[in-house]
Amino acid sequence: MHTARAQGHVRSEPETASLLSWLALDNTAVPQALEPLCPLVIRHLKEVRPSTICFLPLSPQTTELILTTMRGQVGDGVYLVIVSKAPLPATTVNRLFAFGADDYWCDEQPDDLLLCLARAGRSMKRLRNVIEERQSPSGDMEFLKRGLDHLPAPISLKDQAGRYAYCNKAFQTLMNLSLDEIIGRKVCELLPPDVARRYAELDALLLDDGMGQCFETELCVVDDAPKHLLLHKVRVEDDAGEALGIASVLIDITDRKQLESRLVRAAERDPLTNAYNRRKFFALVQEVVVEAIVTAEPLAVAIVDIDHFKSINDEYGHSEGDRILCEIVAILEKEANDLIEVARAGGEEFFLFFRGQAAIDAAAILERMRTQIARYCRMSTSSGSAGTISAGYSAFDPASHTIDQALRRADAALYLAKDGGRNRVCSAT
Ligand code: GH3
Ligand code: MG
Ligand code: MG
Repeated sequence: MHTARAQGHVRSEPETASLLSWLALDNTAVPQALEPLCPLVIRHLKEVRPSTICFLPLSPQTTELILTTMRGQVGDGVYLVIVSKAPLPATTVNRLFAFGADDYWCDEQPDDLLLCLARAGRSMKRLRNVIEERQSPSGDMEFLKRGLDHLPAPISLKDQAGRYAYCNKAFQTLMNLSLDEIIGRKVCELLPPDVARRYAELDALLLDDGMGQCFETELCVVDDAPKHLLLHKVRVEDDAGEALGIASVLIDITDRKQLESRLVRAAERDPLTNAYNRRKFFALVQEVVVEAIVTAEPLAVAIVDIDHFKSINDEYGHSEGDRILCEIVAILEKEANDLIEVARAGGEEFFLFFRGQAAIDAAAILERMRTQIARYCRMSTSSGSAGTISAGYSAFDPASHTIDQALRRADAALYLAKDGGRNRVCSAT
């Protein structure tokens, strides 16, 4: 069996070593016709250094074996000039070209060698350009992938069947999965069934109508707080407009959402007790009133005021006053159900709004609140018993009264409670 081995038969200056070598089989000598051409070859090909040109002696019988062995040894990117002692049959030449050879020279036509080398030079130059382009970051898919891996936004591509075809590092981090665990999988294999079903439906819609989608979503990755994400999805199309798949980018808006909820909280709630504020109270009432006018649902309002609260501040200090305020709110909210809204109207005064069955039971519910507060918050001051509550309530028919009128009636009832000795609940007359 023939074995190709580079013997480095360098004929002239050392620099030819990288350019011109002779791969001899069975110790075949360099053909004499090539020797004087070595410097010419060097001059001709000097632009395309340092690629190697291999002169390969060939016989029809050994063609494929030699080429296969050569490839194994010298790898891609080497130009082969095949030298044959006699013209090769056309089928062999075709086979050679199909196999990757660029040219061959038969030493029966010595003048053609330069032409052959000229073609070799051009081919090597093309080859080198391709290699350079591959190595240059700008022409490189690798460069693109690396760029996307450096971006903080998770990016992914799904094919038409909904299988992930690509995702960047940020996407892997978000999913807490490796590339191998994502690529080729469908969303239903990666996310809980109900979430996955929703995504799959939206993907189908997008592939169908091509209307880009943008929506907020929440993703809970193992052992991590849920992330709020803004998801942009587009249909990827070929030149003819046919769908190829879906590209998506996720923008982490967790910080923005947290800020938003802090702002909403600041706009709606009292910072000390965390109860709704006046503005939120009236907004909530307004929503219910619009419905209740149609449904005739029973409604009621109450005003609750802490008894002798000033004396608590005066005698126990303002921070003790604050603590009692918070405790009273906690009890009001604990005794309230989802048909009752509690809001801090200002100072040590609260508005309560009852609907449906809670409105019918308003007196009993307020009485329970009063008892609980008297039990847990009552304090002894020079004014007497303090930290209890007095409450006045009134039914509210939105078809014939405004909320302000109802609150005025409840306020009048509150006065009755105060005048009657405090720590009591009175109904509007
Ligand atoms: P009454 O039983 O007649 O309602 O007597 P009162 O002392 O509760 O009523 P008054 O209106 O004289 O005093 C209310 C007090 O509530 C005065 C004010 O300093 C106190 N107050 C209002 N808001 C706060 C608060 O946020 N924290 C504290 N500690 N005290 C507050
Ligand atoms: Mg008071
Ligand atoms: Mg008051």
